[in-house]
Amino acid sequence: MSALILSGRDVSAAVLAGVRDSVAALNQRGRTVGLATVQVGDDSASKIYVRNKHRAAEAAGMLSLDRQLPVTASQADVEAVVTELNADDRVDGMIVQLPLPAGLNDEAAVEMVDPSKDADGLHPFNLGQLVLSRPGPIPATPGGIMRILDHYGIQTSGATAVIVGRSLLVGRPLALLLGQKGVDATVIQAHSRTPDLAGVCRGADILVVAVGRPKMFGERFVKPGATIIDVGINRTDDGLVGDVDFDAVVSVAGAITPVPGGVGPMTIATLLANTVALAEAKDN
Ligand code: NAP
Repeated sequence: MSALILSGRDVSAAVLAGVRDSVAALNQRGRTVGLATVQVGDDSASKIYVRNKHRAAEAAGMLSLDRQLPVTASQADVEAVVTELNADDRVDGMIVQLPLPAGLNDEAAVEMVDPSKDADGLHPFNLGQLVLSRPGPIPATPGGIMRILDHYGIQTSGATAVIVGRSLLVGRPLALLLGQKGVDATVIQAHSRTPDLAGVCRGADILVVAVGRPKMFGERFVKPGATIIDVGINRTDDGLVGDVDFDAVVSVAGAITPVPGGVGPMTIATLLANTVALAEAKDN
């Protein structure tokens, strides 16, 4: 039997429809909603991500401000742009596109973002709010994964969730979200030093992989019937592929996100949902 395909395209369309409605309601009160991005250098993948964010923001009726800096920009140049956007009333949400080019400090740049405009939820204040289970912007990719699980009614309570990867962007916040009260998964965070990775993954009812290695996760990593969330985006000669060997796993898993069309669209939708929530919070 073939796994249920968890379509991030479908779920993101529903999220974006809600965002559009919220933006329209704010517009009716004479209020615009603005998303700003700060991108440094010419990395082609980053440029595609930023372009897609602006397209989606504009389609949702938002004002979108695109600040590009050359690869020669200094840390002070980047932080000056962030400071300017912090003071710009048109901007409700902001992201610094990561990673910054070598020599620049990602964390220091993100710390400059006003936490009340932190659309990516990566400012230390908002990560602290997440640890404390308090409201605030949720990091976009983990937040998008939670929306997929919720949309398809994947049971988390009582489930063993294995997350492979412990990055600040994906693995670590997702572990907090899956383990929080009310979600109640039992979370195992695996990484490059985990012994018997395949055996650990085979214990998962929900397996999330965020590693960055094309098709690394085949059948031997998957418990029959498990839900597989593939975060990986790898550009290969065969086009975009995930970290999961989709063709090998699709007949074993119970449900699976495709690449492309799985987690990727959810990241953008959650970013915009965070932005409109920040705009609403500012008004209240
Ligand atoms: P990252 O910061 O490089 O982290 C990768 C993680 O994978 C690390 O924790 C690393 O372990 C672990 N790892 C590496 N090799 C491993 C191995 N052989 N076995 C087990 N674990 C291993 O990457 P990231 O930013 O989280 O991104 C991961 C992937 O997701 C990339 O393909 C990226 O493009 C994609 N991504 C997609 C989206 C989306 O919207 N779909 C968003 C963000 C990222 P250590 O900590 O031990 O080094």
